[in-house]
Amino acid sequence: MIPKTSLKVLKHKALLDRLPQDHPQYRYIYDKWRQFESGQAGEANLEYYLKQAHLDSPQFLNGLRIEHQSAFQIDWLLFDLGYRVILEIKNYTAPIYFDPHSRQLIRTKAGEKEVFPDPLLQVDLQHAQLPRFLDEHGIEQLPTFTAAVFVNRYAILELQDYPDRHRILTAQALPSFLEKIARKHPAKISPSRNQEIVSFLHDHHQEAHFPIMDRYGIKWSDLIKGVPCPACTRFAMNRIRLRWQCPFCNERSSDAYLPVLFDLALLSENRITKRLAYDFLGGLSPDAARKMMNRAGFIKVGTSKGAYYRHHDLVPFM
Ligand SMILES: [Zn+2]
Repeated sequence: MIPKTSLKVLKHKALLDRLPQDHPQYRYIYDKWRQFESGQAGEANLEYYLKQAHLDSPQFLNGLRIEHQSAFQIDWLLFDLGYRVILEIKNYTAPIYFDPHSRQLIRTKAGEKEVFPDPLLQVDLQHAQLPRFLDEHGIEQLPTFTAAVFVNRYAILELQDYPDRHRILTAQALPSFLEKIARKHPAKISPSRNQEIVSFLHDHHQEAHFPIMDRYGIKWSDLIKGVPCPACTRFAMNRIRLRWQCPFCNERSSDAYLPVLFDLALLSENRITKRLAYDFLGGLSPDAARKMMNRAGFIKVGTSKGAYYRHHDLVPFM
């Protein structure tokens, strides 16, 4: 199953919401989050253009990640009845020069030059990896095309001496690019078979293992504890007569703890101990924390001291 929002983005957001802004790692993690979020927004924007193309019976997959020999992730995958397309999406702004010799992209922004790898090298690698995986599972091969799509309307693509420029597209050019391929490749499989293959891929999606606390060397004691107010977002609400109440705006809530538990699940790689929940919910006994997790439908794993709780929505991913 592919999550709607990438877990990497959710984990960064959960961490930033609890990391004090003066923490030495805050800025770095914030920049990473922005980068992942803008990448994801760029990919989501492309959906509109993909749906504009007049195609046979297309199936789309966004963010498929397969672990096979080495792992590979594909921004957008189009499976139709006679052909397939792998798309790498870039959300860069500013003028970008495609250097045909170094196979690098050079972006000039506010007088500063920045270098990025050529996205066609990335899709070409995926183009080699995907058929191997399909083959191993007895899935029919079809002609497969690749392109890199620049979704930001403020990107100026300098492609004059770049030999592969027909595979570098803007989002607006994507529908006609796809229609041209579709016209030359009539159906070889049935729509139901196509659907079956795409469901199979969906089932084989695997999220990247990204234990965010370890990744950035953050300790639980670095984080802000307590239940934030759902109305004014400030920390922390007080537990008063079985409800939480905000000392700043007086908002009262009986379920303000649910987002806290979801964030803890993201930050702990979906292993919340009773102790951790108690520590972050504030104003509760460990026993009350356990009862809350039971009521919220958490799945208990193990017994006594080593027991932990898993958030059901995150079980398919971690
Ligand atoms: Zn409030």
